[in-house]
Amino acid sequence: MSTYGQSVAIDPAVHRFMRRTHKLLIGGEWVPAASGATFETHDPATGDVLTTCASGDATDIDRAVQAARQAFPAWAATPPIERERLLHRFADLLELRRLELAQLEVLDNGKPFALAYQMEVDLAVDQMHYCAGMPTRITGETYPVSNTGFAAYTRREPLGVCGAITPWNYSLIMAVQKIGPVLACGNTLVLKPAEQTPLTALRVGELALEAGIPAGVLNIVTGYGPTAGAALAQHRAVDAISFTGSTEVGRQIVQASAGNLKQVSLELGGKSPLIIMDDANLDDATETAVWAIFANSGQNCVAGSRLYIQRSVYQQMIDQLVARAESLRVGPGMQHGVDLGPLISQTQRDRVCNYIEQGLAQHATLLTGGTDRPHGCAGGYFVPPTIFADVPDDATIAREEIFGPVLSVFVFDTEAEVLTRANALPYGLAAGVFTENVGRAQRMSAALHAGTVWVNTYDWFDPAVPFGGMGQSGYGRELGHQAADLYTTLKTVWVKS
Ligand code: NAP
Ligand code: MG
Repeated sequence: MSTYGQSVAIDPAVHRFMRRTHKLLIGGEWVPAASGATFETHDPATGDVLTTCASGDATDIDRAVQAARQAFPAWAATPPIERERLLHRFADLLELRRLELAQLEVLDNGKPFALAYQMEVDLAVDQMHYCAGMPTRITGETYPVSNTGFAAYTRREPLGVCGAITPWNYSLIMAVQKIGPVLACGNTLVLKPAEQTPLTALRVGELALEAGIPAGVLNIVTGYGPTAGAALAQHRAVDAISFTGSTEVGRQIVQASAGNLKQVSLELGGKSPLIIMDDANLDDATETAVWAIFANSGQNCVAGSRLYIQRSVYQQMIDQLVARAESLRVGPGMQHGVDLGPLISQTQRDRVCNYIEQGLAQHATLLTGGTDRPHGCAGGYFVPPTIFADVPDDATIAREEIFGPVLSVFVFDTEAEVLTRANALPYGLAAGVFTENVGRAQRMSAALHAGTVWVNTYDWFDPAVPFGGMGQSGYGRELGHQAADLYTTLKTVWVKS
């Protein structure tokens, strides 16, 4: 039994990984950046340097794209059942390295060990198995052509070379969410992971080679967004780009893609509403609302950062919510029992603290939390769970994605009113409703402008269930069989008999 405060024992494989020189994976080989440049990655709980990675730029992206282009014909022609076998083997290796991957993620990203080990790695393994089952299930259709003497059917074909650019908040899941379906559909890939958290993607690259994924099918270029990322988005020999990150960078990706009109899919930011109706189970609603915002210290694209509570249950729920938030334990992710780890970086901590100060300046009431580091959290980028009430709808903290542990709470009177207010922002990633009334649940789910609506729950994912945004939260659907549509194109064939 582990007790709160004890450190998680570090897997020796993690020490070995940290001691390796980290390079770029291009054409099945680990190679330094052509420029020789490197960058350091840090532990957000302490600010200490963990290890050094190669800093790829446009030249390395070009090398990786050439390697992916070269590998494409053979990979696309690999029998579907053989692609399945390789991807299942890959998933098995991820599972075998579960502890190591979880710890690498905790050290690089800062999140609590339990979140990495029991949620992130498991979901990543499940996703890879799910995608491994895709190749033999990608089918076309036949059509009832009115003019006899013809047959018409469709084929789903791979797009070619895909590029993927991922953020730092769930870097392992993000890498697998791109690699799995892209490879399953017969494409090859160049992945640019977030500069803050490159480690799990690099380990996944090693495991891909160990699984027997052929050279050049998966290429990984670590480096910075404005150099490596932008070069990938612009590259004329890249057929599709799959981006997860901020709405602001998403816009730049669309512009960069225009040169060769590559296909783009975008999973962007959000400011998701969670609505508590007066007939809800308030204990469930409170517990869910707390995790909806504070899981991963609020660094969650679907974070339920706007909480709307109906007036007659408002005070009771607020009291419960504050008490629960104050019971959460903030500390280094590598300590057992920690609920919230640090934020990813000093920059992110400054950003979040700036939002908290704006909340105060714009006359919201701070119920708990604030900009002071919690007790015993001196070294890292920690922010305590923070809750604001009486937030004006037009306050900055009510409208902008904070990407930190900061909740804005609002009171409302009627269903129609709360739907209007919930739908008032340009985002549309996720939303939640708590009600015991089935008719109301269905009516409100239909009315909410969001790619995912959770009823009496929140933040639930499954490899079989599609996910994506509306409005300025992006377009395209990942996960589910819809991911196979995202990474294939449709060809129509007419045959005259
Ligand atoms: P970000 O700043 O947009 O970065 C995401 C990725 O894009 C990183 O790899 C980054 O590189 C790269 N990048 C930056 N500038 C670029 C450019 N000009 N061209 C090409 N690539 C560029 O986002 P973040 O701060 O890492 O992540 C937080 C955001 O991601 C939030 O808005 C969150 O809502 C969103 N998110 C969305 C989802 C979803 O599924 N909808 C999931 C997770 C996160 P660096 O390595 O240099 O940072
Ligand atoms: Mg790091």
